[in-house]
Amino acid sequence: MIKLSTLFVSSLLTFASLNTWALGGGDFVNNGGGLAEKNVLYAYAKMENYIQTCLQSDACKLTPSQKAILQQIYIGLPLEKKSPQILFGSERATPGLFMIDGNVRVAKTGSAVGSPIYINSDLLYTKCQSGGYDPVTIPEAVAILIHEFGHHYGKYTHEELDLIGVRVSLMLQQNFISTPLIPWARSEISATVFNPDLLTSFPQVLLNVGNDVFDISRMYAEAVHCEVFTLPIPILPIPDLELITKMPAGSLFHNIHWEKIKDKGPYYNVQITGNVSNNCKYKQNVGIRNNNFQMTISFRINKIGNELKLDKSSIKLDQFKDPWWKILKLPN
Ligand SMILES: [Zn+2]
Repeated sequence: MIKLSTLFVSSLLTFASLNTWALGGGDFVNNGGGLAEKNVLYAYAKMENYIQTCLQSDACKLTPSQKAILQQIYIGLPLEKKSPQILFGSERATPGLFMIDGNVRVAKTGSAVGSPIYINSDLLYTKCQSGGYDPVTIPEAVAILIHEFGHHYGKYTHEELDLIGVRVSLMLQQNFISTPLIPWARSEISATVFNPDLLTSFPQVLLNVGNDVFDISRMYAEAVHCEVFTLPIPILPIPDLELITKMPAGSLFHNIHWEKIKDKGPYYNVQITGNVSNNCKYKQNVGIRNNNFQMTISFRINKIGNELKLDKSSIKLDQFKDPWWKILKLPN
């Protein structure tokens, strides 16, 4: 194990970066690694959230014994996260490092709570049709990590833990939306949205450009609002005047698509649009789901050599009223 720790000295940088997630809001994380490594770290940072979503939902389809193991993992997370825990390595670079019971594994760990979890970066990317590589997604990373956490709580088999990880992952995938700008260049530019639940939570919204991931969840939560008093202006395209607004109790962001891409020479101006469904509370205990709005997220992508870089100061979110969307209703 001493050998291992010297091998992974460079990945300690990862931990320093990971802390920026904890601050919330928006910040670039882990600029050194690839998108798959970032997805693993993001899944790790938000693990409480993802496990809770599964434990609270019948859609997760866990058996009572699987649920008990997942609950153990959930309760143990604060202790697990007390010290740096995720370390990236490569089976190709260090043959035998990830060999367990005769098979090369995507990850390995010890048997104690807080044991480091070693991730095999070789297996985080799969070759796709275009010849490029698809990074592991956040729901897939959740499955990998749940499996490894499980080893900290008893002598469960790899297969038992795989099943629990896959259950959580499948349920998350149903609430995950990933929208690549161009389908065959999946990892280059994409937006990822996770809607944890219908009524009381706000979506996690991530922008991926090149190898950078930018978390704009807080910007989203600050941008959405419920109308309290609006002065209608009957002339299109002038928007109604929203004189008084308030924060919703929860919000969904869905039906997301890329709307505008303008090549401006040294940079691109891009825009994503999606439907916003807010849980607006006007009287005590009376929630009204408000589906009148859409949200645009616009930003600039700088071209630097062969690389694309998101200009984080350019990100703008705007909730606006869309009369076409008014006719649809979601349950309160
Ligand atoms: Zn295992």
